[in-house]
Amino acid sequence: MEQRAVVLLSGGVDSATALACARAEFQCYALAFDYGQRHRVELQAARRVAQDLGIVDFRIVNLDLSAIGGSALTADVDVPKGRSLTAIGEGIPITYVPARNTIFLAIALNYAEVIETWDIFMGANVLDYSGYPDCRPAFLQAFERLANLATKASIEGRGTFRIHAPLLYLNKAQIIRKGIELGVNYSLTLSCYDPDAVGHACGACDSCLLRQKGFAEAGVTDPTVYAQ
Ligand SMILES: [Zn+2]
Repeated sequence: MEQRAVVLLSGGVDSATALACARAEFQCYALAFDYGQRHRVELQAARRVAQDLGIVDFRIVNLDLSAIGGSALTADVDVPKGRSLTAIGEGIPITYVPARNTIFLAIALNYAEVIETWDIFMGANVLDYSGYPDCRPAFLQAFERLANLATKASIEGRGTFRIHAPLLYLNKAQIIRKGIELGVNYSLTLSCYDPDAVGHACGACDSCLLRQKGFAEAGVTDPTVYAQ
């Protein structure tokens, strides 16, 4: 039987590409989170991507981090707009959601143990990890160690959990080229942190700007629809 993998899917470029990478080797169980994010419309993008790639299972876990806040994505704080790429590359922005990947990977581990699979994929990459501590290789290695200490399945010796980040050392342009090779339809994805109600991107937040730069560098037309 084909091996199974749990894949974190947000509906953006990176996670859609990570899902396509996982699909090349595994039967995929995609996991998205309704965490109180302002760009909740991304969940529709996640569902479209999963359907388009023919993923066997797509589910959304409700986990309302807006009860805590602390980020421009989960609290009533403005999303930064129109920043220079230099400014985007400096420090950890207000769109960082405290400990988000630790939380998401913990749920992915829960799911993986339940469906008896050992492989968990996420779209963390070098571009993100310049800003986000929970995308760094050391974090991913530490979480993998934790997974193998924290679960009945591993303690009983039935297998070893692996955290896969196939895009870790790719820039956005390389990710986009890889995704196109693997059949990702990027017109179904949504990167924006602050889209309108129907999912049109703002074109000015950090995530929109990094996406635009990635498509330009990849020499590919970005299919994103922007709000007027
Ligand atoms: Zn945006």
